Amino acid sequence: MARIGFIGLGNMGLPMAQNLIKAGHQVEGVDVNPASVEKLKAAGGAAVDMPGVAAGRADVVITMLPAGQHVRDVYLAPGGIVESANPGTLLIDCSTIDVATARDVAKAAEARGLLMLDAPVSGGVGGATAGTLTFMVGGPAQAFVRAEHILQQMGKTIVHAGGAGNGQAAKICNNMILGISMIAVSEAFVLAEQLGLEHQKLFDIASKSSGQCWAMTSYCPVPGPVPASPANRDYAAGFTAAMMLKDLKLAQDAAKTSGAVTEMGANAAKIYSRYVESGEGSRDFSGVIRFIRG
Ligand code: NAD
Repeated sequence: MARIGFIGLGNMGLPMAQNLIKAGHQVEGVDVNPASVEKLKAAGGAAVDMPGVAAGRADVVITMLPAGQHVRDVYLAPGGIVESANPGTLLIDCSTIDVATARDVAKAAEARGLLMLDAPVSGGVGGATAGTLTFMVGGPAQAFVRAEHILQQMGKTIVHAGGAGNGQAAKICNNMILGISMIAVSEAFVLAEQLGLEHQKLFDIASKSSGQCWAMTSYCPVPGPVPASPANRDYAAGFTAAMMLKDLKLAQDAAKTSGAVTEMGANAAKIYSRYVESGEGSRDFSGVIRFIRG
């Protein structure tokens, strides 16, 4: 059993922390939103005021925050996690953020004798609740070995992707594929509509042909062929269009700084940007088909 400081008890963080409590850990939670902390207490956790205070008492610190700036703040601010954690403490950031911030924070942690991993997730709120998340992990092997059994209590697939920042790199590359492929599948269904080809017929053929991909067979953007997909419930999210846009922008930032050419990724970011600006940011990202249909 470990003493775990858990910072960021939102849609993802709270169910992840609850799974750690169920696994027998002592979880002390911090969130700027008092209602989230109350929910952790109701689940058997304890409340702590500041990230630095939680870090100073913990064997392991896990953060699940909205974006890179929040991560910089809680780790690097005076009295923050890096300054307050005891040497040897394991730090795991599960937020989806830019690679540069992940590497900067890891460097600052290493300089203080702390073990740091970036470990963004895939699987959404459903996966966080069921404890079936996929973790893409970047950081030293020694830290990965210590973290693996804890991550297994929140997830099913845990992959060590290499050094610091490589978890974030894997996450944004994966989500760039997903954003592009969702647009491709949506455009194909819209073209089929114009050509008088039924949705189910296109699905039956393309899902068994070379057009097959996850966006079609697991998350089909039209109602009918895949009963569990958000298209069957008016595109209630799942994974919101705003989050997809955030990840596509992270991919574009990384492409610019690394010199990679990602024209389809750039186009996907533009399309999702216009979809979100149309007021649909909180809709599931597969709802982009309605925007494409016009
Ligand atoms: P969320 O906004 O629901 O939760 C973030 C929490 O962090 C909030 O409760 C907020 O109050 C808290 N917070 C913000 N600043 C803080 C601070 N300084 N100190 C303490 N708490 C602070 O977001 P989420 O949906 O839980 O997502 C978290 C991360 O996981 C994001 O990076 C997101 O991109 C990623 N992610 C989300 C999903 C998803 O489906 N929701 C899937 C995969 C990855």
